Amino acid sequence: MNAPLPANATIGIVGGGQLGRMSAMAAARLGYRCHILTPEHASPAALVAAGSTIGDYEDPQVLRAFADAVDVVTFEFENVSAYGLDLLASLRPVRPAPAILRISQDRVAEKSFLRQAGVATASWLPVASRAELEAAVMQIGLPALLKTTRLGYDGKGQMLLRRADDLDAAWERLLPRPLILEGLVDFACEISVIVARGLDGTTVAFDAVENRHRDHILDLTLAPARVAPEVAGTADAIARRVAAALDLVGVLAVEMFVDRDGKVLANEIAPRPHNSGHWTIEACPASQFEMHVRAVTGLPLPPAARHSDAVMKNLVGPEETALWPQIVATPGLIPHLYGKAEARPGRKMGHVTHLFPRGGLAGEFGVAAALGVLAK
Ligand code: AMP
Repeated sequence: MNAPLPANATIGIVGGGQLGRMSAMAAARLGYRCHILTPEHASPAALVAAGSTIGDYEDPQVLRAFADAVDVVTFEFENVSAYGLDLLASLRPVRPAPAILRISQDRVAEKSFLRQAGVATASWLPVASRAELEAAVMQIGLPALLKTTRLGYDGKGQMLLRRADDLDAAWERLLPRPLILEGLVDFACEISVIVARGLDGTTVAFDAVENRHRDHILDLTLAPARVAPEVAGTADAIARRVAAALDLVGVLAVEMFVDRDGKVLANEIAPRPHNSGHWTIEACPASQFEMHVRAVTGLPLPPAARHSDAVMKNLVGPEETALWPQIVATPGLIPHLYGKAEARPGRKMGHVTHLFPRGGLAGEFGVAAALGVLAK
């Protein structure tokens, strides 16, 4: 039952973005084919995959045709309806399981799950009405963040409440409801851990990394995070605990805050490869994408070893994409472009990785050198 999928079997990937593209590239090296489900023509993933089904994620005929073409289903896109997930799961093994996606799709379900798993988060309360918002603000205090519970990403669907005057506008603006109110964490840094768990329960985790955002979009990842060993250890333990509590098969990212006292608070979980793990392609013998493919196909998981330190920079929007000629002309930069036709503002078009010997990022010099090269 748990035998690995044989070579040349087909992995179905729901979603056609860069995470699917890099998963398909890792799958190809392991002798698997990928088949992409996406509404988009010439999507980044479909451009490197053996096949694709173009259609709506909610259309039963489309979902059936997709399932017919594949041996196992995974996701790089999380916002598929419960109906779509259940239909797919009735036809093929879905890894990670739909129940895990459902938790990650809803911030209240996610935070409730984290609490149950004994993982610390910012203080939070669900907010279903204007009166509940008032009560939540009384309890949590200001400043606080009001967020939609569903369909939020890259800082979309959230507003900062500084004063009581801000409540009206935020309540009107943030849709769909219900919402969630979170205490604002005064964090020293943001970190994440990517954990992979196989069909046999083997669990491996990449080193914690530090993430820096610009305009709410991930800009830089520093690997490893320059945090105290106890902080990195706590982050690792949280990621493993989350993976075990979810009975995960696949990879999962846990985004966390490190507050001024060194306390680690979980913010979000994403049951898929994650932007903050792109550095693993070059800095690790087995990348997050290879781990993902191995987990969903039932192959054994190797250690999540890291042979180099790394800095990853996203190329976002037209301005950063315009740096491409310099990037490909700079020795030591490892360039990735996702094949997207149009560089709209805020759109992740590619990324660049710069490797250092292990320990090379520990001091400011490593980061300064990396940033100097990457800023060219
Ligand atoms: P999210 O959509 O929850 O991933 O939030 C996007 C970004 O907003 C995070 O990476 C943080 O930089 C910031 N953020 C979200 N929630 C909080 C919080 N409770 N306290 C402080 N910053 C937050």
